[in-house]
Amino acid sequence: MKHITIVIPVYREEQNVPALYRRLEKVTAGLPQIRWDYIFVDDGSPDGSFSALKDLARTDPKVKVIGFSRNFGKEIALSAGVHADDHSDAVICLDADLQHPPELIPEMVSAWRGGADIVATIRTSSAKQPVLRRVGSSLFYRLMNRMSGMEMVSKTTDFRLYDRKVVEVFRQVTERSRLFRGIMDWMGFKTVYVRFRAGARENGNSSFSYAKLVHLAIQSLTSFSLFPLRMTGYLGVLITVSSGLLLARMLFARFISDPKMFTPLAIVVVINTLLIGIVLMSVGMVALYIGTIHTEVVNRPLYIVRERVNFE
Ligand code: UDP
Ligand code: MG
Repeated sequence: MKHITIVIPVYREEQNVPALYRRLEKVTAGLPQIRWDYIFVDDGSPDGSFSALKDLARTDPKVKVIGFSRNFGKEIALSAGVHADDHSDAVICLDADLQHPPELIPEMVSAWRGGADIVATIRTSSAKQPVLRRVGSSLFYRLMNRMSGMEMVSKTTDFRLYDRKVVEVFRQVTERSRLFRGIMDWMGFKTVYVRFRAGARENGNSSFSYAKLVHLAIQSLTSFSLFPLRMTGYLGVLITVSSGLLLARMLFARFISDPKMFTPLAIVVVINTLLIGIVLMSVGMVALYIGTIHTEVVNRPLYIVRERVNFE
């Protein structure tokens, strides 16, 4: 008998939890040949999410709950859920806001049975997604693929199934600043894609502000690609060469052809502006990487669990 664990990060989802549970129950009841477990990770929700989850756990032993001491973010919550599962044959990750239809699970499971290591889902159309968000997301994927040389399919979501062997590799990953599915894609396991249409969020608001999304995008780029760093190098060379040429031209005019063409001050200004530009850009780029190194080196625990329910 196969065993599948469903991992659900929860942040401010008090109203969605009972509905999600009902839908999950309906879907999993349709696949009785599989043993099911749900691991809900409450990411320090300020609302009643945690007690709603505990209510479920009281009546249903398959419901396991991890409560964080504070909000650590979705990527970390997903990681904690996957870490907590140590014996299933596959893990399915699913958002709590009902944007990921549990009804797709049977199709994902059969793709897995067909030999896929990762079954990823692609959201074909999301109702009411703002233009800026759509443009931003497609730009991100284009940039990411270019820079990291790693195929990241756009519009894929965190709603995915991972085979045990993927989960085992994931458990060895220790980096802190993480894009959960980026790490999974990076492993290179055999991935099959399944499509679904996303509805709007059922209750509450998306908790990802643009600032958070931009932050996530920058983090992904620096943790998966050294291109920005090299880019600084190329830019430095370009600027140095062109300023060198301009300077040569200026000096040639100054001393040989036409001494009045450039004032000495103009020459100095050109030299300085270019040098300052180069230095600032290099420092900026290097700082991004040092930031990443810093978070790795500090080596704090990834998350802090306050309470665990229904784990033996
Ligand atoms: N989430 C979380 N921690 C956070 C923010 C979100 O665990 O700090 C969960 C949230 O409860 C939901 C999922 O991550 O299950 C996706 O969040 P949301 O719907 O806000 O993001 P979007 O759908 O806009 O990507
Ligand atoms: Mg959502």
